[in-house]
Amino acid sequence: MELRIISTPSSAADAFFQVRHHIYMWKKYHKFGSNVKNRFLEKNVKLEKAYSSQKSRGSIYCLNNPENNPCVPSETQLVNAKVIYSVAPAMGHNKESHPECNSRVPAIVSALEKMELTSKFRGSEIIELQSFRPARVDDIASVHERAYVSGLEKAMAQASEQGLLFIDGSGPTYATATTFQESLLAAGAGISLVDSVVSASKVRHDPPVGFALVRPPGHHAVPKGPMGFCVFGNVAIAARYAQRVHGLKRVFIIDFDVHHGNGTNDAFYDDPDIFFLSTHQDGSYPGTGKINQIGHGDGEGSTLNLPLPGGSGDRAMRTVFDEVIVPCARRFKPDIILVSAGYDAHCVGSTSKSAIHNRNILHVGFKH
Ligand SMILES: [Zn+2]
Repeated sequence: MELRIISTPSSAADAFFQVRHHIYMWKKYHKFGSNVKNRFLEKNVKLEKAYSSQKSRGSIYCLNNPENNPCVPSETQLVNAKVIYSVAPAMGHNKESHPECNSRVPAIVSALEKMELTSKFRGSEIIELQSFRPARVDDIASVHERAYVSGLEKAMAQASEQGLLFIDGSGPTYATATTFQESLLAAGAGISLVDSVVSASKVRHDPPVGFALVRPPGHHAVPKGPMGFCVFGNVAIAARYAQRVHGLKRVFIIDFDVHHGNGTNDAFYDDPDIFFLSTHQDGSYPGTGKINQIGHGDGEGSTLNLPLPGGSGDRAMRTVFDEVIVPCARRFKPDIILVSAGYDAHCVGSTSKSAIHNRNILHVGFKH
């Protein structure tokens, strides 16, 4: 596998844009408790001051230098870590009352704090990557057509004037003036975790779990454009990055969202080296992911769609994972496993009938 070093001179500026933008948005943000809000503000102010490669316990600050490993914990930190996570809340990409709104990531961060599952409480076991770099256009273009990427960037001026745009033919996908930059950051969060987990795998046999807490979501975005609230295929971009930059050959992607990950499905439909496996509720949006959709050409057999009846619930999901997914993954022998972990199959706040509970989401997310 070819190993490419890609350079983009503007990525540091992009990261700074994000930091400043987040501070601005958090100042405007009132829905959540002041504790969480202040913590985010505090963190981001600290981030600006500490941007030049200082490290604090449990958090990784680094220079955005694409020539070096952009944002990877030290060897010592990698040896101790159980979880490495990255957060990209896309506060400027928002539409009030929309189901895919900017309160989602802060709500998760708040819950993690309450459950004492952050580095503040767990020390070196949990590391949050800070100031990771946004994805570059070349990273995005490994999955999406360049015309789409440049078209979206150009549309930002119009979004800026109008405040909000709806993208034609994409289902109800909206864009604001910051959507392009914040989508690059969401994809960058996954890429930085790939860098970290791959580095960890070189110093220990059981590398830590990486968790990207990001929006806009990605798995409906198709190679030629956005779809279903999704802008860039975050997990697909991370998969291609693992191949292109780290030389990993075989990637196994599990998508357990209640909806079919049609974008990821399409990106790798004829690729024998990326196995895409999706469980989803039969008949739900966007209507794809039938059991006979198994890949095409050289990729035939490396896509597995498992549409489940509405109401399947915990037991069905556990059975599918134990009896189908795990044997499948063992047979495929991947170099890395990526999980496209959409949580709208969860029993609380879900519009689906699948009703999976926390303990089982953790089961599928971490056991295997
Ligand atoms: Zn979904």
